[in-house]
Amino acid sequence: MMKRLAAIGSIVGLVIVASGSAAHAAPDGLTLVATKHSLLGTHTWYQQTYNGVPVLGGYYATHTDRAGATAVADGRIAIKGIPARSAAVAQGRAESSVTGRLAGTLLRSRAVIVPGDTAKLGWLVLTDTARGTVESVVDAASGTTLSEKSTVKEVDGSGQVFSPNPVVTLQNESLKDTTAASTFTAAYKTVTLTQLTSGVTTLRGSYASNQSSSGVTSSTRAYTYTRAQAGFEQVMGYYSITSAQEYIQSLGFTDVNNSAQKYKTTGYTDDNSYYDPSTDQITFGTGGVDDAEDAEIIWHEYGHAIQDAQVPGFGSSSQSGAIGEGFGDYWAYTMSSAVSTNTTVTPLVCIGDWDAVSYTSTTPHCLRRIDGTKVYPGDFENEVHADGEMWSRALYDISTSLGRATANTIILEAQFNFTPSTTFAAAANATVTAAQTLYGSTAATAVTAAFHARGFI
Ligand SMILES: [Zn+2]
Repeated sequence: MMKRLAAIGSIVGLVIVASGSAAHAAPDGLTLVATKHSLLGTHTWYQQTYNGVPVLGGYYATHTDRAGATAVADGRIAIKGIPARSAAVAQGRAESSVTGRLAGTLLRSRAVIVPGDTAKLGWLVLTDTARGTVESVVDAASGTTLSEKSTVKEVDGSGQVFSPNPVVTLQNESLKDTTAASTFTAAYKTVTLTQLTSGVTTLRGSYASNQSSSGVTSSTRAYTYTRAQAGFEQVMGYYSITSAQEYIQSLGFTDVNNSAQKYKTTGYTDDNSYYDPSTDQITFGTGGVDDAEDAEIIWHEYGHAIQDAQVPGFGSSSQSGAIGEGFGDYWAYTMSSAVSTNTTVTPLVCIGDWDAVSYTSTTPHCLRRIDGTKVYPGDFENEVHADGEMWSRALYDISTSLGRATANTIILEAQFNFTPSTTFAAAANATVTAAQTLYGSTAATAVTAAFHARGFI
């Protein structure tokens, strides 16, 4: 815990020294950081120092109006104990240990006083990493890491999307790619685009990064497009991927594809989409209904990215490939169930209701369903999408038995233990084990029953 000193009414009596100066007697001091002039006055900011060393988080500011009255914002922190005056761990050693651990390159470092129950002398090291700048504070006495954080700032924007798609929102199975634009007006929703990286104008954030050609930009972070505009699918991708990662983290997982997922909505004209593990990028096709106009297609592809992040090279056999397709369909279902209701017109178990209008004639239009009755091995076709329907049905049954959050926690935890070429039986057993460990025998029994019904165990 940090304790702020009580504010004082004037700056009289404060010792103001130049950076690094040790000439003054008092251990507390201030270093001028910046002087800003506004319409109504002058604002002077200082860094708190102790024995000439900057105190982490300690500041002091004066605000002087045109009449000469001064107000103070005193953010100095009490220094408890006597921090070391010299470092047992050399600056260069602290730098190399941090940059090596983060696999980054050094930007700069400096000595700091780290306030706390006992103040410490530390090294603040800024490292340029693949995920932006990381600020680490290393104990100059022991070399241990006292704190670490990303300095990348996130901001919110706004965007217009389908959520999950217009067929579901409008409850209209007659929609076509060629339907008049005005029909879709009621299907658009305005949403907050979270996690956008501060300082850029593109759709780039902590969990999603738009790679589309001529990617849209907005200096006001307002990305409002209709489906006739290329930007619409780019916003759909950003929003759907980011919301999926936020949901994963809400379950407690901090390392399930927790990075900026690259995606592209341009340049691929087939009526198909794919995740490419060699580039870690999702590409959405524009044939028929643009695939990225249907969030359920986005979530299916993100399912592949999730599994590849958990198990490098996942899906290298016919059965693990089928598990990949089945999980993707299930993931589309579970994400969609948070933003839409189960109706007779558009059952939740029907995946890709909007994308599928271009290539199916019967209603409801579905890419696939996850409530099939196929059983292994009799119904095995050695085609990953068809066979995946058995896996998605099992996951659907687990979700129905245990509830969405419990089921998804079990499923995601279990996937960490899959091998790239896992079998239905091995993956099912890993999922039972995860259920048993996380929630006990009742959950394990439900999971066992779901996989047993599909003939996997
Ligand atoms: Zn797939």
